[in-house]
Amino acid sequence: KDFKGKVDPDWCPGCGDFALLRATQVSVADLGLSPHQIVCVSGIGCSSNFPGYFNSYGMHTLHGRSLAVATGVKMANQTLTVLVTGGDGDGYGIGGNHFTHTARRNVDLTYLVMNNQIYGLTTGQVSPSSSLGMKTKSTPFGNIERPVNPITSAIMNGATYVARGFSGNMKQLVRLIKGAIEHRGFAVIDVFSPCVTFNRDNTYDFFRQRISPLEDENHDPSDWKTACERAMEWDEKIYTGLFYQDQAVQPLHALEPILDGGALPVSHVPEAITQEQRARIIQRMM
Ligand code: SF4
Repeated sequence: KDFKGKVDPDWCPGCGDFALLRATQVSVADLGLSPHQIVCVSGIGCSSNFPGYFNSYGMHTLHGRSLAVATGVKMANQTLTVLVTGGDGDGYGIGGNHFTHTARRNVDLTYLVMNNQIYGLTTGQVSPSSSLGMKTKSTPFGNIERPVNPITSAIMNGATYVARGFSGNMKQLVRLIKGAIEHRGFAVIDVFSPCVTFNRDNTYDFFRQRISPLEDENHDPSDWKTACERAMEWDEKIYTGLFYQDQAVQPLHALEPILDGGALPVSHVPEAITQEQRARIIQRMM
């Protein structure tokens, strides 16, 4: 209950986002974290209201810009656990550029994407992850664009913990979120989070009939080739679970060559900088 926000969610009854909120609250409690150790950063969209419903420090930022802001938070104070929450439109469309660069930089963030394959807040337009042929308010004759694959994109761009969850499987979701928070590096969890109001195609039943946990396949998360192959399956079988993990790559804040001839790490606790060091850095930047 420590992580329950003061405001109750105004999501539609049955929205998949409820499950992710609950799974995140359970995960941080299980890991023994306190609200003051966490910052939750979001963009814009139904799911981006998340920080308002979650008791921690929080920032509701601009559309598609949550990863950029979260990177700043982590680099300013590496002791914080930084969660980033949002939807598929926010993260893979408007924020697609930041998604790529946060992955290649391996910033130590946990990115939770509530992927409902539609723009819900604006009442049902096609999104970057909508299926080919899907009829929406903005594609009445069917979507003619192929959807983005966030799992293969994240892996190929350098993310070091890449998973897929489903709002209908809380147990797996909690396991994935805890693993993501404990991972040192950019952790992405793409979560199928059905929009019960505007997406009539990708429903709970649609996923329940197809979902297959990678845990049942003895999947090896260090095998990126098999991870990509399994991430591309989207017919009878759709895999969930941890596709890929690389624990050897250092997160950005741990890289030490650096400002000020090695005397000052790129990432720091602000109080650790003396006035003299600050003046030297500014002088070098000019
Ligand atoms: Fe959830 Fe869709 Fe309702 Fe938004 S419109 S709260 S995504 S069910």
